[in-house]
Amino acid sequence: MPKKPIILDFDSTLCAVESLDALANMVLGDDPDSEAKVAEIERLTNLGMSGELPLSESLARRLATLTFNRSHIARLIEALRDQLTPGLVEDRQWILNNTEHLHVVSGGFVDWIVPVLTPLGFRAEHIHANVLCWDADVCVGFDQDHPLSRNGGKPEIVQQLGLGPEKGAIAVGDGISDLELRRTGHVDRFVAYTAHAFRDAVVQESDMEASDWTSLREILDQVWMA
Ligand SMILES: [Mg+2]
Repeated sequence: MPKKPIILDFDSTLCAVESLDALANMVLGDDPDSEAKVAEIERLTNLGMSGELPLSESLARRLATLTFNRSHIARLIEALRDQLTPGLVEDRQWILNNTEHLHVVSGGFVDWIVPVLTPLGFRAEHIHANVLCWDADVCVGFDQDHPLSRNGGKPEIVQQLGLGPEKGAIAVGDGISDLELRRTGHVDRFVAYTAHAFRDAVVQESDMEASDWTSLREILDQVWMA
């Protein structure tokens, strides 16, 4: 029997931080209004996560607060490589062995997730995330038609990819948008990954909890053996 597909989140799951917040901190580092802007970005993040603001609007307003270019993205990629979940980098052989069953579905951006994850053995075509728009070296926004830029985007992508519950798919993540895959019946099981963010509401509705990469590996190996 083929191994069940695994759908992994990126921010606060494969990576220890929220990558857009990390970009904001970097870009605003030299800005005299940085404190106010960081506070505004955090406010917009929370409004988006709690559902008080549509995700697409939260994302658009956060990006509009930031002016950045490709060199910022290059620095972000370097920084994120040092902030991956502990154990992941050492597990490159396991990732390579299982790469056809591993999919990343993230509300972050392919512009940095692909270069951060592909050297570890993840397949670029298995990484699904938002896409930045560029005018030469300057970021001018994001693809607003991409499903992952709006609420309900993760279930939409999983459905498009045909990775759903009929294949016994398992979602892994820290947030409500990951849990949503289970609530809407798009996956068979949901593992709450709590190494970096512990959200009560998410853990309570999860089928299993993994508090670090080693325990997640054990869960996945068991599911695949069953
Ligand atoms: Mg996350």
